[in-house]
Amino acid sequence: MTSSSLAAIKTREESLLCHTYGRYPLSAARAQGSRLWDLDGREYVDLLSGIAVTSLGHCNEELALVMAEQARKLVHVSNLFYQEEQLDLAQRLLDLSHCEKAFFCNSGAEANEAMIKLARRYMKRVRNSDAFEILTLKGAFHGRTLATLAATGQPKYQDGFDPLPEGFVQVPWGDLAALEAAVTPRTAAIMAEMVQGESGIHPMSPDYARGIEALCRKHGLLLLVDEVQSGMYRTGRPWAFQHFDIRPDIVSCAKALANGLPMGAIMATSEVAQAFTPGMHATTFGGSALVSAVACKVLDIMRRDRLDERAARLGEAFMSRLRDVATRLPGRIREVRGLGLMIGVELAFPGHEVWAALLDRGFVLNLAHERVLRLLPALTIDEADLNAFVAALEDVLTAVPAEACHAC
Ligand SMILES: *Cc1c(COP(=O)(O)O)cnc(C)c1O
Repeated sequence: MTSSSLAAIKTREESLLCHTYGRYPLSAARAQGSRLWDLDGREYVDLLSGIAVTSLGHCNEELALVMAEQARKLVHVSNLFYQEEQLDLAQRLLDLSHCEKAFFCNSGAEANEAMIKLARRYMKRVRNSDAFEILTLKGAFHGRTLATLAATGQPKYQDGFDPLPEGFVQVPWGDLAALEAAVTPRTAAIMAEMVQGESGIHPMSPDYARGIEALCRKHGLLLLVDEVQSGMYRTGRPWAFQHFDIRPDIVSCAKALANGLPMGAIMATSEVAQAFTPGMHATTFGGSALVSAVACKVLDIMRRDRLDERAARLGEAFMSRLRDVATRLPGRIREVRGLGLMIGVELAFPGHEVWAALLDRGFVLNLAHERVLRLLPALTIDEADLNAFVAALEDVLTAVPAEACHAC
């Protein structure tokens, strides 16, 4: 297929695809590391990494070699077969935390579905309990399948899809008392992101995270942690929950797991994992030899290159420079927050024009909930690229009159 103009692609897409996406005015022709090139060969710095997916950069050469080699050896045979690639991956994943058993699937939503199913079945079949309800937090994002949409609890994503599966109750973010007040004999688990991503990057405070764990232990609930976006070294630790010294019963992950090949996983303690017995949960594609081999290499590289330390160091420096901009230009930036290289810059006003001006200057990022510039760069990004972004942001924000901000 030859490359056409963006307008022609747009027209073609309208005639061929379900209209589910509001696209950026950008079509990537190719990518390398933290660089993207559009159809006209224009270069962009990618600060989004396919939404926290290509954490080792685009078209990583070491991964390309593994991919090519595995593609000629074994791609897929289904989960009716033993596959050593899955074991190599499980070993690497489980070595990173207290979790003892893994299950592989194909996406974040699917990982969360597996987490929800495992929690419910553990209560019924191991604990002999009727508890099934899962408490989730306001602002959560857990996926787009019917159950994960119910867990997500955002009306704007649920419109027209009812009835959704029962058994999810949403509680305000940051309020331990409200969480405890919502616990009833029907409650089976609390499910949460340690750093909310989609809602505009909201890290939990250590007290809040530990308080949630303590509530779970006190009331005999399972703690389910969604690390789909925050996991895989992004926040400066392999998993974000490790900042808080807590031990979830089940952890879900996906986005960066195979650096762009679709893959999800859950990891659980042996105690909880025993609730899954043969035939009780399955997927045709999950953990194929190809994606497992690639994910193994992803984890080997992250460990070898100490990308947790790098994410922590670059994230701190980046946030501190962004806060300097906030100080130099009062009234523009409400807050800079994040953990490692999972960063949100909340503007004091709706940010579409700022976002568009940054894209125009060659920086790709996401605007969350109107006002938050969401930054999820590759963990391998050059610090110079982050500094160039800070300069561009300062330039763009300087052009916004402070009075205009106060009026918003
Ligand atoms: C992206 C995301 C999901 C959903 O993952 P998909 O692969 O899109 O299904 C779930 N939870 C969190 C925290 C996410 O960021």
